[in-house]
Amino acid sequence: MGNALTGSALDEVLARAQAAPFSLSRDELAALLRLRPGPEREAFHAAARAVRDRVSGPNVYLRGLLEIGTRCRKDCLYCGLRRSNSHTVRYEMAPPEIVRLAVRVYELRLGSVVLQSGEVQSAKHTAVVEEMVRRIRSLTSPDFAIVLSLGEQSEETYARWRAAGADRYLLRIETSSAAFYRTLHPATHRWEVRKNCLSTLKRLGYQLGTGVMMGLPGQTAEMLADDIIFYRRIHADMIGMGPFLPHDETPIRESPLTEAERLELGVNMVAATRLYLHTCNIAATTALQALSPQGREQALLAGANVLMPNFTDDAHRRAYQLYPGKPIVDEVSGEEPLSALEASIRSIGMSVAWGLPGTPPHYLADRDPAE
Ligand code: SAH
Ligand code: SF4
Repeated sequence: MGNALTGSALDEVLARAQAAPFSLSRDELAALLRLRPGPEREAFHAAARAVRDRVSGPNVYLRGLLEIGTRCRKDCLYCGLRRSNSHTVRYEMAPPEIVRLAVRVYELRLGSVVLQSGEVQSAKHTAVVEEMVRRIRSLTSPDFAIVLSLGEQSEETYARWRAAGADRYLLRIETSSAAFYRTLHPATHRWEVRKNCLSTLKRLGYQLGTGVMMGLPGQTAEMLADDIIFYRRIHADMIGMGPFLPHDETPIRESPLTEAERLELGVNMVAATRLYLHTCNIAATTALQALSPQGREQALLAGANVLMPNFTDDAHRRAYQLYPGKPIVDEVSGEEPLSALEASIRSIGMSVAWGLPGTPPHYLADRDPAE
């Protein structure tokens, strides 16, 4: 890879990136991702922040997270919920409880709710989720976004959930390299299947969310640059990315990077993604906050515009361990706590867009089916 970006070369790259989306090369993205703390990195984040402010203002859109179940048919080599982990508590929240919490998220004027769980594929599960989505839809206004993050499913299942009223779907590709994907998953998990799910979701009219983890063994800055370019190719509307947080009960139990390095890289990835895509929503994820109390604020200052306060009840939240060290009783699980979150958002010069779904401008402008 070329030289470190400094001085007028950096100024030129940042000015070009700010002027129009998709204007950086893979090598330039990789060089930005490598920037270490200092004035160059500050300028990089400020440029990403300026693009964010231009496309969506200093608004933070809140998405209430419900972790609705820990059962999972998959065996991803990095995840605490993997099927082979017999030490994890498996639960499924009861549908009426999920609907109740989703309505609470709506009444507290968050713009969207996301239902997330391990991957379950069955006719019964499809029908239960469909009914739940229909019920939430009937109890909330049409501009309240219902977001699903329930893994890989058939086209028919995705279509039924969409018809029932789901607006968005989050499915991280995890890496845009099929070869690297194979080192992170058993052979039965296929990158091509996951990628096809993304294309299908887009074709069905979902607002499409995807993303990757940063700091995995064998991952390079160039691979992460390719991931950003992949987001464009798949026509993603929303991006959620987080540092890899090793879990002891999984085969990949170590990261080659320190926690501080992963936090740095995670925030750089937010900034580089904003500079490349411009009009997508980008989340400041809980995994960043797990590495530092200021992790999410750092991501907002680097161009993110979405936060996902957790509304899962405490008992279930404790068992939903994709990774260890997740903030369990975090500051955002009720009304009073939401005002603390709002204060922290204000302290960095942003404001909560209460009651607004924050539909990404990218989705409104780009209705082409993905490749
Ligand atoms: N089962 C669904 C949704 C829940 S998993 C799915 O896989 O799509 C949500 C995300 O958690 C995954 O996409 C992965 O990127 C992330 N994740 C899993 N294990 C993790 C770990 N050890 N550290 C950080 N993120 C992890
Ligand atoms: Fe299951 Fe998702 Fe974890 Fe993979 S990442 S094991 S699909 S919960």
